[in-house]
Amino acid sequence: MTDTSDLGDIRGHADHSSNLGFDTRAIHHAFDPAGFSRAVKPPVFLTSTYGFESVAENDAAAALGGRLYAREYNPTTEILEQRLANLEGAEAGLVLSTGMAAFGTLVLSLLSQGDELVVHKTLYSNTVAMVEQGLPRFGIKVVPVDLSEPGKLNAAITERTRLVYFETPVNPLSAILDIAAIAEQAHARKVKVAVDSTFASPALQRPLEYGADLVLHSLTKYINGHGDTLGGALLGDAETLHTLHETGLRYITGATLSPLSAFLILRGLKTLSLRMERHSASALKIARMLEAHPAVAWVSYPFLESHPGFATARKQMAQGSGMLAFGLHAGFDGARTMMDRLKLLTRAVSLGDADSLIYHPASLMRARQSIRKDAQLADGVGEELIRLSVGLEDVNDLIADLQQALQPL
Ligand code: PLP
Repeated sequence: MTDTSDLGDIRGHADHSSNLGFDTRAIHHAFDPAGFSRAVKPPVFLTSTYGFESVAENDAAAALGGRLYAREYNPTTEILEQRLANLEGAEAGLVLSTGMAAFGTLVLSLLSQGDELVVHKTLYSNTVAMVEQGLPRFGIKVVPVDLSEPGKLNAAITERTRLVYFETPVNPLSAILDIAAIAEQAHARKVKVAVDSTFASPALQRPLEYGADLVLHSLTKYINGHGDTLGGALLGDAETLHTLHETGLRYITGATLSPLSAFLILRGLKTLSLRMERHSASALKIARMLEAHPAVAWVSYPFLESHPGFATARKQMAQGSGMLAFGLHAGFDGARTMMDRLKLLTRAVSLGDADSLIYHPASLMRARQSIRKDAQLADGVGEELIRLSVGLEDVNDLIADLQQALQPL
């Protein structure tokens, strides 16, 4: 029987000692209907500012951490922050308008001119743009390292290193990095570790449990899960989150999440682990089908025995998630032909949606080069790579669509 003695706490502030299960907290944590006319769903507060009965009350709200104005405070958004923090096992959380806004807020708040940031050599393409083109303009040195060999970290860290940042699973190849091994190396040199856990979501992987200090999510992906809004989140210790909130959000980026988006993301979050189970089961089935297909040269899916990160994935992830990458013997041109034959899967960037989304990074990169000459594929991403975000459709329909598209190319 579930222990319900924590139900009193769940509705208040984050309580990590709660015995309640992940799904119960994903549905109830930090929302007390008694405070909101007994509404079962959290109201959406569409207000830009807050009025006060007296100047003294106004002062008290300011002392509470800028609860004066909706850039820094909104009751709907606060529920989402507390719920996400609880699900990640973090002391505090901050939500922002997009995943990129979360990354910008993180690095521009914690690093200054002359500081150094160590990153894994492969990252989401716009994070690459930020670290290669954005941060150096502000005098922040970025040091790319192959973190699949955590031993390489020690030589990359100097006394100016402030943060180690990486994704796992890594976009777009779904490579796996060992969170515990990297955190151990970084902490030995007193450097903090931030993990972009977007590809997994807290239903499958909680990096803080493996020693990371901070977690970043694009809420646009699995956590919202329905492809109808953008959002980002940062989760970690209360002191760092206070800095990210008080300087980062308030005046460095001002990248506030809309309360309507917070509502949608709270709604999506309720079904997160159900969805992740289906995404993962279908992706594994599709990965196995592709691995056995004569037109397919390679498949990368963390829960395939052939994946180089299989053991680490099994250690730090509950399931493999819905993201996989594969390449065809027919290469770049074959990828384009195969994608054009698809009838059910949607050709689109983004991921973590109920709809299956498929995309060919090399095609988009070539198209982008017409407007940005220096555009290039991230390290480790080949011209043949196809990335697939497996959705929630019937898996047999997805397999049939892929198989008809893979007819001799
Ligand atoms: N991190 C990862 C791993 C991503 O895949 C993305 C977007 O695709 C982002 C961050 C950026 O998130 P957003 O699109 O919400 O800005």
